[in-house]
Amino acid sequence: MESHTTATLSASGANVAAISNSHLAVGQLPSMQPLPQIRDPEWLKVEVCREFQRSACKRTAEECRFAHPSKNIQVTTDGKVIACYDALKGRCTRDSCKYLHPTYQIKQQLEV
Ligand SMILES: [Zn+2]
Ligand SMILES: [Zn+2]
Repeated sequence: MESHTTATLSASGANVAAISNSHLAVGQLPSMQPLPQIRDPEWLKVEVCREFQRSACKRTAEECRFAHPSKNIQVTTDGKVIACYDALKGRCTRDSCKYLHPTYQIKQQLEV
């Protein structure tokens, strides 16, 4: 029969495949977004005890595994306080420190 007809057909078929492949590659580009990872004071953040915030925590600051911050310590919008880095190192000399001085339990959580 006429063998050259089939040859032309398969050639054009390969052409179509090549075009759709390049379309796919372009479509995949915008989804690759690198997430910025700023871990600076983030690792010093300690979750504040929810019960303590409602004055309902029966534990002392030492017994509770969540933070019991005093009034001068600023609580972040996500319900956390920043632990005092100097206190972690055992050398905070500030009188009324605005960072949380971590208890033994909280230190354990921070020093992973
Ligand atoms: Zn508590
Ligand atoms: Zn401190």
